[in-house]
Amino acid sequence: MNEYDSEVMAGILKREGYALAKVAEEAELVLLNTCSVRQHAEDKVFSKLGELKRLKDKQPEMKIGVAGCLAERMKEELFVQIPHLDFILGPSHIKNLPEILKNIEDGKKKIAVTGEAQLPQVEKEVLRQNNLSAYLPITFGCSHFCSYCIVPYVRGGQRSKGMEVILKEAEELTKRGYKEIILLGQQVNAYGQDLGNQINLAFLLRELDVIEGLERIRFITAHPSKIDNGLIEAMSECQRVCEHIHLPLQSGSDEVLGRMERGYTRDEYLEIIKKLRQTIPEISITTDIIVGFPGENSTDFEATLELISQIRFDGAFMFKYSPRPETKAATLPNQIEEEVKRERLSRLIEVQNRITKEKNRELVGQKEEVLVTSSNPKIPTEIMGKTRTNKVVFLEGSQDLVGELLEVEIISSSTWHLKGKKR
Ligand code: SAH
Ligand code: SF4
Repeated sequence: MNEYDSEVMAGILKREGYALAKVAEEAELVLLNTCSVRQHAEDKVFSKLGELKRLKDKQPEMKIGVAGCLAERMKEELFVQIPHLDFILGPSHIKNLPEILKNIEDGKKKIAVTGEAQLPQVEKEVLRQNNLSAYLPITFGCSHFCSYCIVPYVRGGQRSKGMEVILKEAEELTKRGYKEIILLGQQVNAYGQDLGNQINLAFLLRELDVIEGLERIRFITAHPSKIDNGLIEAMSECQRVCEHIHLPLQSGSDEVLGRMERGYTRDEYLEIIKKLRQTIPEISITTDIIVGFPGENSTDFEATLELISQIRFDGAFMFKYSPRPETKAATLPNQIEEEVKRERLSRLIEVQNRITKEKNRELVGQKEEVLVTSSNPKIPTEIMGKTRTNKVVFLEGSQDLVGELLEVEIISSSTWHLKGKKR
């Protein structure tokens, strides 16, 4: 979602007459888009702002802005901590960027635009990172309030875009040559629940699936408590919907899941995995896991290891629990020591990476459809792309193949990617 927001802001800046500077030293304006989901992400922003202070001391006319979730979380307090900051822009107020820039140019200082907003407007001039695969947000914010998570506080409650608007956006993107659309939402499968008109993700997928020229449809992130048979059937029946789902598990212990307020048990999660694999046998499933949640004891952690070994995910993002201000989990007793979190994370990564590697090895000798997205930045004679199951593939080939869907035979594999050859 943040990457998409950055593309929107880049588009607005371009429209306002700004051009991209090659390095920060040459920039008149530096705008940092930020994440608050873990402390580590915030620490990176502060260290970047420290570097920028040294630049601004040399070039006092340089303007510095902070956008995104950190801006929303800290609001004007950021001006106190970072006196060289010129403006602050919350993630629901991106449309105010031109007005802020104008005020800054007119000599106004320390502008902050934050606070809850309505549904953001549809942006027409998004400066996308590539011209094949486009992010398309369908919901903003989240109303689930998992006990560890800051997202509902900084991005507000869930607001869904109207279906007609989404379909029009998707049609326009396809006309402009986009081959893949990635629907975005914090709980993308809760799409429509706030609209009150029976429209849901399954229905939307079926409508998108008939757009002429669109090759692939993906959606992130799905929430386990909101997977139903209708969605699984739509995924299996819609030809363009890819055989991949990112379904964050977070923990394999029912006690921990309960305290996280995720809204499902391990057995319910397992049941969903079973249905997905029965209905869509080639599906790849990836997940997110948090270790060291308050009160997680070694039995809870072993339950997570056991469950990931049983499920065998294709891949996982794995994190140490990071207490976030305002959230319920930050005030729970039995916070886990950093040392224990670190040790659990490294054990988890070791187990999961071995599984990822084995799953990739199983693909050697198989045929996969690959959408070629670019040349390999490291090896100019190679191109790269993704399978429908969201795995990265490198293969010999020329730049002209970018944008093509190729049938590729997988010839070797590693934990992070596959190698293939054109058939
Ligand atoms: N809406 C998505 C997740 C958004 S945040 C969902 O519900 O799946 C992405 C991931 O960051 C989460 O899945 C979780 O694994 C991790 N995360 C969120 N808050 C965290 C915290 N306080 N500490 C550590 N990891 C966290
Ligand atoms: Fe955060 Fe939970 Fe909402 Fe995901 S579903 S954004 S983890 S509150």
